[in-house]
Amino acid sequence: MQNLSDISVIKNVLSRHGFTFSKSLGQNFLVNPSVCPRMAEEGGADEKTGVIEIGAGIGVLTKELSKRAAKVVSIELDPRLIPVLSETLDGCLNTEVINADVLKVDLQKLIEEKFQGLDVVVCANLPYYITTPIITHLLESRLPLRSITVMVQKEVAERLCSGCGSRSAGAVTVCVDYYAKAKKLFDVSKGSFLPAPKVDSSVIRLDKRKDPPVQVSDEKAFFRLVRAAFAQRRKTLLNSVSSAAGISKPQLLEALEKAGLDHNVRAEQLSLEQFALLYENL
Ligand code: SAM
Repeated sequence: MQNLSDISVIKNVLSRHGFTFSKSLGQNFLVNPSVCPRMAEEGGADEKTGVIEIGAGIGVLTKELSKRAAKVVSIELDPRLIPVLSETLDGCLNTEVINADVLKVDLQKLIEEKFQGLDVVVCANLPYYITTPIITHLLESRLPLRSITVMVQKEVAERLCSGCGSRSAGAVTVCVDYYAKAKKLFDVSKGSFLPAPKVDSSVIRLDKRKDPPVQVSDEKAFFRLVRAAFAQRRKTLLNSVSSAAGISKPQLLEALEKAGLDHNVRAEQLSLEQFALLYENL
C-alpha cells in the first residue's frame, strides 16, 4: 500500500494523474504523517462507528479512517480526484467515495442507507472556503451524528470553541453552542499541507448534545434572528437586527428591555440564554 503522507509518493501520484491543485476548492492536502492517525483516533473512528468524510483529497485521512471504522463514506466534489482515489484507496473494502457536493447530498438518507446499526461521526479536513456553511448545515439538519471532528483555520476554531458572549463569537458560535459541546483538540502548522496555506489550522471536535441547553419555539426563526444580529458586527444588535431582519426598532427595544438587555448591546456580548430570551420576547 502507498504511504500517502510521504510527500514524494503524493507528488508522484498527482503527477501521474496530471492533477493540479484548485485553490477555489480549498485543496490543501495533508502531508504531515502524524496528523491523520490522531484525527481518526480522536474523531472516534472504531469498529462500531460509521464515518462520513467531507473532501477525500487523495485519501490520506480516508485511509486512516478506513483502518479503524466499520465503514467510511467519503464525499469528494472534484471529479479529477475520483480516479486518483480508486488507486490510492485500492484495498480499503469498507470505504466508498461519492463524487458530489456535500451541501447537496441528502445526508439523512445516506446515513439510513449506509450506516444501519452504527454510530455515525463526521471526520474531515474541511475545504476552508465553506467551513461555516458545512458546520451549520451538519448541525441544523439535526442529523443523527455523535460528533463532528474537523480541521479548520485556527482563527475559525477559536470562533467555534470560544462560546457565546466572547469577542470572537459569530452566528456559527451560537449554532455550535446550541447543538454541541465544542473542544479544540490540537493545532496543525501550515507547513503540514501541500500546498501550504497562509494560516495555521486546528482540529476541533463538536460532541452533539442530546438536547439543546435552551428552549426556543421555532429553531429556524431563532437562527434567522441570530444571523441578523451578527450581520453587521460593528453595529449594535438593535441596528443590525432592524436592518437585516426588518423588525421595527420600537418592537426590538421593547424585547431588549423585557429580556433585561441594554439597548446598546452587541451580538457578541449575548449568552445563548440571552439570545433565547430575546427571541421569545419578540
Ligand atoms: N482530506 C484531504 C486531506 O486531508 O489531505 C483533502 C482535504 S482538502 C483541505 C479539502 C477537500 O475537499 C478537497 O479535496 C476538495 O476538492 C474537497 N471539496 C471542496 N469542496 C467540496 C464540497 N462542496 N463537497 C465535497 N468536497 C469538497
